[in-house]
This record gives sequence, C-alpha cells and structure tokens, in this order.
Amino acid sequence: MRVYKFGGASVKDGAGIRNLAHILEGAKDNLVIVVSAFGKTTNALESVLGTWYAADEIWKEKLNSLVQYHRDVMHDLVRNPSVLSGEIEISFAKLRDYLSVPPRFEYDQEYDQVVSYGELWSTMIVAEYLKSEGAGAEWVDIRKVLITDNRYRDANILRDESQKRALAAFDFRKVRMYVTQGFIGGTFAGFSTTLGREGSDYTAALLGNMLDAESVTVWKDVPGIMNADPRWLSDAEMLEEISYREAVEMTFSGAKVIHPKTIKPLHNKKIPLYVRSFIESQKEGTTIKEDASLRKLLPVYIKKEDQILISILPKDFSFVMGESLGIVFQAFASHGIKVNLVEASAVSINVCVDDERGRIDALLAELGREYSAVYNGNAEMLTIRHYTGAAIERITRGREILLEQRTRSTVRFVVRKTG
Ligand code: ADP
Ligand code: ASP
Ligand code: MG
Repeated sequence: MRVYKFGGASVKDGAGIRNLAHILEGAKDNLVIVVSAFGKTTNALESVLGTWYAADEIWKEKLNSLVQYHRDVMHDLVRNPSVLSGEIEISFAKLRDYLSVPPRFEYDQEYDQVVSYGELWSTMIVAEYLKSEGAGAEWVDIRKVLITDNRYRDANILRDESQKRALAAFDFRKVRMYVTQGFIGGTFAGFSTTLGREGSDYTAALLGNMLDAESVTVWKDVPGIMNADPRWLSDAEMLEEISYREAVEMTFSGAKVIHPKTIKPLHNKKIPLYVRSFIESQKEGTTIKEDASLRKLLPVYIKKEDQILISILPKDFSFVMGESLGIVFQAFASHGIKVNLVEASAVSINVCVDDERGRIDALLAELGREYSAVYNGNAEMLTIRHYTGAAIERITRGREILLEQRTRSTVRFVVRKTG
C-alpha cells in the first residue's frame, strides 16, 4: 500500500478535488489518502477561535462564511448532496453548539477542539465525492486511530496504541482506498488534539511507517523540492533526489516545503518520500531516500523568517560552559521554545529562535534572576548548504549580519530583516 497526502492548496475548491480524483485514477495500489483542511481554513478557524475566546461576537460571522465556503465546494462537486449534507450539516451544528457556551478549557485545548473541524469537513467532502464518482473511498476518523498525549497544539503520538489501531482501521482486505485527516489526533479521553501547524505531512509519514507503506507521496503546488523556495528565488532549480539527511537538514533550517517531523518515521523504515506537483502530476518530482545520488551539488538556500536573536549572559560571569548551558537549554525546552541556532562564547550564549514573544518573555522572566538577556528582534536566519563564495555574496549582499556560523557543509547568517 501507499500513502498519498494532499495539502490545503490542492483542495481549495471543487476543481482541486476533481484534480485529486484524477490523480487517484492513475494509482494502482491500495491507498491511504491523507487530506488537509481546504485552502486557508485552518487560519480562518484560528480566527473564529480567537474571537470566540475573547468573547467577540464576530466569531459567528466568521464561522458562517467558513460554513458557506464548504457548502459551496460541496454543491459544486456532488450533484445530489443529500446524504452528505446530512452528515456535514450535523458537524457544522456541532461546532456551533460547542461555541454557544463560553470556553471551558485553557486556550490550547480549546484550539484543538475547534481547529480540528477543518480536516473533518474537508475529508467528509472528499470521501463523499470519491464515492459519488464510484471510487469507493472509506472515511476514517483519525482521532480514534492516532492516540496522543494531551500536549495540545503539539501533541505526541502514543506509538504502540496508535499502531495497533492503525492496523485495525486500515484493513485492505475489505477496502482499497481510505480517506483520512492530516494534522489531528485524539486523546484516550476523547479530546481532539493537533500535531503542530502544517502537520499533515507528518501524519502521512506516521501512517506510512505504521502500515509499512511502499512509499509516501506528498502532492504540492511546486514541482518538487528545489534548491530554494521559488517564491523567494525565482531561478530555483529542482532537486531530483535527496537523502533523508539532507531533507532533515533543510526542513530543520526552515525549508517549509515539508514538515520537519516528516522524515524520521520514514527514515526509520527506509520508506521513500516523493514530493510531486498536483498541477503537473505526470512529472516525477523529488525522491527522498537513503542513498540519493546528488548529480550536481547545488547550493541550497533556506530562509527562516520571524526570528529573534537572544544573547544570554550570566550576571556573576560564572561561566557559561558546564552546568549553565544545561540550565539555560532546559528552560528553553520547558517553555516550548525550539532553538534554531546556538553559539556559545566565554561569557555568553547566543540563541536564534522563532519570534514567539509570549513564550520568550516568560522564559526571560525565569532566567532573569541569574542571567541578563539582550535581544534583537526583526531577524531572519539564512542558511546555505553546500555553499560557495558566490552563493554567500548573493544572499548577504547589503544585509546587516548579526551572527555568522560556518561548518564545512553549511553556513548560517542571522541578519536584520529588511524593509
Ligand atoms: P501543503 O499544500 O502540502 O501544505 P505547503 O504550502 O506547506 O504545502 O508547501 C509548499 C510550499 O513550500 C511551496 O509553495 C513553496 O513556496 C514552499 N517552499 C519552501 N521551500 C521550498 C523548497 N526548497 N522547494 C520547494 N518549495 C518550497
Ligand atoms: N491544516 C493544517 C494547517 O494548515 C495542517 C496542514 O495543512 O498540514 O496547518
Ligand atoms: Mg502546508
């Protein structure tokens, strides 16, 4: 069996879903089809949640327009949507009911209960459309399969339980094709959870691992993985094959084309990952595998935006090495802040992290007793793998460099954002 994953851009309207069905026609194997929320639905649900949580009545209008968007897609696709209408209308009403009383839980828990509807609706519509076209795809509620802890918005999969359930839920003796949700899971207690924004790629990889898939394919709006985001550098070139290692380095550095957690479950079982274009679906795209041959070593450019560079200095000059490092990084981890770059000197540690002010303020307040901190906001982290002098010149020309770090294969610059 194989796993296919379709992201929000590929299913943003009726035409996108017809295209998805067309891609499936070419697939001979048993399939699990992982689907994200339509278009920008997750952002829209975040906005519904945020306003509702702040007791701003505007959430009702925001939700109405989301519901209308889904109805429009459904009516465009399914000529006689009576069966589907029933189920999906119940689901719309369920969310409205949920929001009709004030929040009961902390924000992150409410987030997962609300935002998970995007994937539930998209998959209901896709599965129903495929059925109406005679493709016979079974809908699976992944919240009952991928069981997680209750670290809301960044939930961890409970592996053994989830694996057992996955093998039971996706039974190819009975059914050839299943449609299910990316990005979401559920707790034993029945609460919805989410795996982190853009997490549908990760879901596809997890299911690929648990079901011993022959391959996982993620269908994107780009021809494959390129040596830069083509929205940034318009002359970006395709990378036909890359190794798992290269892919991990790229995604960790900030290449947004696949979610950073995607690679590990595939690498563990040596399952190839194909990144292909849903627009030019006949083309091969990029293969990520163990022994990839890099035909020519192109410099790979990665930009990570919205960064903040923090310099931490122990107040008593007690030295940063040894214990201090442990204390400082433990504090980053306990505040849920992921560190993108570290540089330690004799009396300071420089750390580049995503600019999430709330978490950073809490962290600095905690460290403030023993350490002083200076920070530079409005920063970006630029990484070049397989760098050359010309490549460095190309992206740093005229930029204010706050920090530079070089190894033999990689150079990183933290630069001030322009404009
Ligand atoms: P999905 O629809 O699956 O969520 P995304 O939109 O998250 O897909 O990822 C595709 C986008 O990733 C592209 O539109 C492109 O702008 C961006 N991207 C970033 N880095 C790269 C890269 N190195 N190669 C290709 N695309 C990239
Ligand atoms: N719908 C979710 C998001 O927009 C998950 C995903 O698309 O991968 O973050
Ligand atoms: Mg995405």
